[in-house]
Amino acid sequence: MKITFCGVRGSIPSPGKEFIKYGGNTACIHIDADDKDIILDSGTGIRALGARLIKKTTPIHLLLSHNHWDHIQGFPFFAPIFQSQREINIYPGLTELEEPEAILNQMTGSLFPVHRDMLTAEIRVHNLASSITEWEIGSVHIKRLRMNHPGGGSSYRIEANGKSLVYITDNELYPPYTKATDFLDFVAFAKGADLLVHDAQYLVSDMPAKSGWGHSVAEEAVKLAMACNAKQLALYSHDPTRTDTDIDEIIEHSQLITELGGAELTCFAAEENQVLVLA
Ligand SMILES: [Zn+2]
Repeated sequence: MKITFCGVRGSIPSPGKEFIKYGGNTACIHIDADDKDIILDSGTGIRALGARLIKKTTPIHLLLSHNHWDHIQGFPFFAPIFQSQREINIYPGLTELEEPEAILNQMTGSLFPVHRDMLTAEIRVHNLASSITEWEIGSVHIKRLRMNHPGGGSSYRIEANGKSLVYITDNELYPPYTKATDFLDFVAFAKGADLLVHDAQYLVSDMPAKSGWGHSVAEEAVKLAMACNAKQLALYSHDPTRTDTDIDEIIEHSQLITELGGAELTCFAAEENQVLVLA
């Protein structure tokens, strides 16, 4: 399983010289698993990915966590949507307001100049019943679990060839509102993950002001990774105001926690264009 971080930023793109190391594009991860192209979210990071995938003609599978703008905004700029008869399968997130075609409907009306009816790819929206928690894409096994976030959404566990990636963003592990999923259920969901990608947008010092905004404190993501016995943790959904230096400090602190505890956990902050191979 080959994983490429195409966008790692939360909320809004953050261009600028202070954001070069980790990158400014919003949520998007490309997974090449058993020759299947699977994409997690369609933030602005998907634009550059599209320039690579347009060289192929095989089906694309796009799993959405939810419809907040930073997770769908890149879709109109994803070149394969204009590729004649290219099969693009979209799996919407488990949002509270059921709008499975929101990603396409941003290309209607006054929001974008190209209408969804002008897309030449064969786009299929798989609006699975909420009771369906796992399915297959070829030999790749997909599981989903509701996340704690205003408006709801899905986290994913992707397994192929004995390796597993767990993607949980945007997620508030300890929300002040009624939670969709308990911490212990996230531990079970992410158990033994080869790579856990988890929201780490906030610092302890951001609280309580940002409690309820739907994201987690980095230390909470470390706690989950240690509890579920993940092999690697990628801190993800970096706050748009967080500079490269700020993120370096967060990761140094996170690594100190694991080292002092003797945990066998590799902890890093996801960087745009970073490639990992789980083999
Ligand atoms: Zn969100």
